[in-house]
Amino acid sequence: MACVKLLQRSGSSVHGMARACTAPSMHFSTTPCAKAKKNYEVVIVGGGAGGCAMASKIGRRLGKGKVAVVEPHETHYYQPYWTLVGAGLKKIENSCKPSSEVISNKADWLKDKVQEFQPENNLILTKNGDEIKYEYLIVAVGLTLHYDWLDNAAFWTKQSSQSCKERNRNNW
Ligand SMILES: Cc1cc2nc3c(=O)[nH]c(=O)nc-3n(C[C@H](O)[C@H](O)[C@H](O)COP(=O)(O)OP(=O)(O)OC[C@H]3O[C@@H](n4cnc5c(N)ncnc54)[C@H](O)[C@@H]3O)c2cc1C
Repeated sequence: MACVKLLQRSGSSVHGMARACTAPSMHFSTTPCAKAKKNYEVVIVGGGAGGCAMASKIGRRLGKGKVAVVEPHETHYYQPYWTLVGAGLKKIENSCKPSSEVISNKADWLKDKVQEFQPENNLILTKNGDEIKYEYLIVAVGLTLHYDWLDNAAFWTKQSSQSCKERNRNNW
């Protein structure tokens, strides 16, 4: 999101500026600048399995407007399903749903990424530049999976996928 800041015209060319049609003597800057300040009783960072579960539980107790989930992605993946995908039994497309459907409607979904934690101020800063204050913070950002760091992972994934298909076909 970009905020519009009115600047005095200067002789030099300034990156990121657009000329305003109705005010030829002014320029508009599209550079991101300090944004909204929000305040919640509970802020949950991450809208994965853990974050969604907490949002649903706490949101029901506290009611609307008290809980926020900060999650940048539009799509939520149900990871346990991937075991079946790896085995060749299910398709990866079926392991996902829109985040808007899985984040509780009792919580506000802030589609953004946390950039900085300031626990001494009960504050997080997001990529869009928003400041979000909280009384309680839950961090549920999951893990980054690196299957490629495992020796021969590609080989074994292929093997196990093949044997599961065989097993299925022969009805073992
Ligand atoms: C193949 C596989 C099979 C599994 N099988 C099982 C099983 O059978 N049973 C079981 O109990 N568990 C299983 N698990 C584990 C289970 O899926 C995880 O424990 C669970 O998803 C963890 O939930 P989480 O909310 O901590 O993290 P995740 O579900 O990974 O969610 C983390 C979220 O945080 C968001 N995020 C990351 N960084 C930021 C940031 N800076 N700002 C805002 N948001 C951010 C991400 O976008 C993501 O949506 C399996 C996992 C895998 C990979």
